[in-house]
Amino acid sequence: MADGLMMPEPTFRESVDLMFNRAVALMDLPPGLEEKIRVCNATYTVRFGVRLRGQIQTFTGYRSVHSEHMEPVKGGIRFATSVCQDEVEALAALMTYKCALVEAPFGGSKGGLCIDPRQWDEHEMELITRRFAYELIKRDLIHPSQNVPAPDMGTSEREMAWIADQYGRMNTTDINAKACVTGKPLNAGGIAGRVEATGRGVQYALREFFRHPEDKAAAGMEGDLDGKTVIVQGLGNVGYHAAKFISQEDGAKIVAVIERDGALCNPEGLDIEAVRDWIARHDGVSGYPDAAFCADGAEILEEECDILIPAALEGVINAGNAGMIKAKLIIEAANGPITASADEVLRRRGVVIIPDAYANAGGVTVSYFEWVKNLSHIRFGRMQRRQEEARHQLVVDELERLDRYLGDAWTLRPEFKDKYLKGADELELVRSGLDDTMRTAYQSMREVWHSRDDVQDLRTATFIVAIERVAASYRAKGL
Ligand code: NAD
Repeated sequence: MADGLMMPEPTFRESVDLMFNRAVALMDLPPGLEEKIRVCNATYTVRFGVRLRGQIQTFTGYRSVHSEHMEPVKGGIRFATSVCQDEVEALAALMTYKCALVEAPFGGSKGGLCIDPRQWDEHEMELITRRFAYELIKRDLIHPSQNVPAPDMGTSEREMAWIADQYGRMNTTDINAKACVTGKPLNAGGIAGRVEATGRGVQYALREFFRHPEDKAAAGMEGDLDGKTVIVQGLGNVGYHAAKFISQEDGAKIVAVIERDGALCNPEGLDIEAVRDWIARHDGVSGYPDAAFCADGAEILEEECDILIPAALEGVINAGNAGMIKAKLIIEAANGPITASADEVLRRRGVVIIPDAYANAGGVTVSYFEWVKNLSHIRFGRMQRRQEEARHQLVVDELERLDRYLGDAWTLRPEFKDKYLKGADELELVRSGLDDTMRTAYQSMREVWHSRDDVQDLRTATFIVAIERVAASYRAKGL
């Protein structure tokens, strides 16, 4: 029998609350404040009809606001058949803690539409998305200073562009209209690097983890990402970018990819671009030539590997399989992939978990940059880039003047000159801001993890850091 099989499986929201409770039990918060932070402030449910294929189709959508200690509140919009009140409330709560952890000045929110987007064509999806957006905009549940959505599972730049346009049509004189939603395409007010941001953040989180010998030792690992074996579940926006960056730039070996229709395994490492391309053309991984196929994808979560990256959906590691997981390190790229009962089992077994509130915070971090860009109406780097290049040119000119005196004994390498002379563009600035954010947030968590005897895992440390910041914000308001 799997370790922990007898434990009752909590719902997603109950899982988040249990993890919250474990952290607050170690803190000294007044009970009233503790409750205020934990509960979800409000959840709006809307049912609306859209005439499609000759009849009225009714859809159910939600927008949940967990905490308004800072405004606007922020959180993605998910299109999936799993969407329900429990799910959006759990995700909204995670957004509160995530924003606090990475110091993005937002409260937590989340939205969702109960729909299988693959059942509708592009034009139909546009009608449905615009109608859902209309319902939320009408109630200020999409608004640049009140509530700012972003992409999540089943939504992308495309839906964000429709939402932004819908808001603009309904608020023709709002000069900040574009800031009503983030994750937009670059030509519709987006920012360079937002599409890759969550996966990029996962890479930066792993790099930071591997910089700390004590943390690696806790997971029974050494070295860096080079040569580490990795299993990824979900090759969507987050999973694809994370897998691509750590394999192409850090030398990690992706030995398995788990998708909806099954899993691909190759101990020599999978070519992530080729797999992604295959999925796009065949709507699944089945039939991909350079790997073994396993129809029961979930089974592959239990395979031998150094790092497991669940990047699809919640609850995939639960009381039923937690005892069989062999990875030494799990990084929660998805929201809530490990239930509270599985978390307990894995902790007892010494598996190190880099929790979702931190691991996938790259998305909201770059969304924050996009929102600031929209409000300032100027692209990052536009004022400084050429000036920076001119100053660097001065230094290079001066060094080359010295060069002439010293002859062959000392010359500037051409690669150095090329790199040094180039001023940072928006993408470089975004990546640098994201890297800094991920490193700083990790350090704040690990400090709590290692400095307190009563904190034995990164998740509890993450909650403590985040809750402390939310509490400070409420205290400052006199609550
Ligand atoms: P996505 O829709 O782009 O990708 C999800 C992927 O998971 C798809 O490839 C899908 O086929 C696959 N999948 C679905 N069901 C599966 C199953 N049962 N087994 C294996 N694979 C399955 O979504 P995304 O934006 O990459 O989001 C993934 C997760 O990351 C979600 O939990 C989301 O909340 C979280 N997240 C996303 C962002 C973002 O910026 N997009 C930010 C933070 C967190």
